[in-house]
Amino acid sequence: MSQYWSPAVRELTPYVPGEQTRERVIKLNTNENPYPPAPGVGEVLRDYATDHLRLYPDPTSAALRDALAETLQVKSSQVFVGNGSDEVLAFAFQAFFCHQAPLDVPAITYSFYPVYANLYGVALRKHPLTGNWEVDIDALAANPERSGVIFANPNAPTGHAHSLMTIEALLKRVTDRVVLVDEAYVDFGAESAVTLIDRYPNLLVTGTFSKSRSLAGLRLGYAVGSEELIDGLLRVKDSFNSYPVDSLASLVGIAALKDVEHFEACRERVITTRERTRQRLETLGFEVLPSKANFLLAQHPDYAGAQLFASLRERGILIRHFNTTELNNFLRITIGTDDEMDSLIEALETICG
Ligand SMILES: *Cc1c(COP(=O)(O)O)cnc(C)c1O
Repeated sequence: MSQYWSPAVRELTPYVPGEQTRERVIKLNTNENPYPPAPGVGEVLRDYATDHLRLYPDPTSAALRDALAETLQVKSSQVFVGNGSDEVLAFAFQAFFCHQAPLDVPAITYSFYPVYANLYGVALRKHPLTGNWEVDIDALAANPERSGVIFANPNAPTGHAHSLMTIEALLKRVTDRVVLVDEAYVDFGAESAVTLIDRYPNLLVTGTFSKSRSLAGLRLGYAVGSEELIDGLLRVKDSFNSYPVDSLASLVGIAALKDVEHFEACRERVITTRERTRQRLETLGFEVLPSKANFLLAQHPDYAGAQLFASLRERGILIRHFNTTELNNFLRITIGTDDEMDSLIEALETICG
């Protein structure tokens, strides 16, 4: 606490990211991709210092938005880009969710939403997951007054994804405010709601280059929606920082989008390794939730989550453990390479054996 902090800053509970480390560990704790980004990314980096570094970036990120629009099969005017999808989410909170009524959100979801709600003074109405650890879509739509609806699909940290039909059913019921679908993990096996943006002007879909495109360090995220929603985001962006996406990030992002083959190969590998890891964890007695993301959420009937987390850490393997009542017994395990997952399973065999 400092006397110089404003009352609002005193009340904040900041987001706690998973640990980043320079130690040589098997790092399965923050949902990064184990494979390198597209080879074209390296070429971009070599030319960058001489050609671009001294100039300000394009404030509209036109080239990157064009490339994303082509990939996602939408118009460039329906695409917004930012410095990581976390920043895009922050802009969305300011642009759409700062109303009197509460924001409808699943009780278990990406832990940044409550942090932003707190920062921007938005009340939350939290809806417990269903018995199958699924986002309760009915409950999200049930109240007459709201500032909006936000959820991740696939959800974090459960990995469950709803079908497009279910999401469309929600959109038919919620028309007064923005419905934000956070698709950070959609490329690992879920259906994207981007195809619905022309029919639902209040639908905003966010995505990121951090997970399926192996560029977490670059900080590049985006939102897709109707032009009126994109204009709302631009108003906030241009009142805060005209250049959230630097020129290097744009060039690298475009290079990554162009290499469709590399993208498809990496995500297939992650998906295959996920299913293989799931089977092996089940053989060890774990209950593993079905996942459409690049992580698994698992618990063991005989071993406490915190204990497994600590034992793995001693063996140089980092996974994520959440200290909340509902998730206390669970481990969230990012899908690494097959070799990394073999090491994890071997360590668990020793610990649980
Ligand atoms: C990782 C993640 C993000 C943030 O992605 P960045 O683009 O790296 O900021 C957003 N939403 C969810 C659900 C995530 O898991």
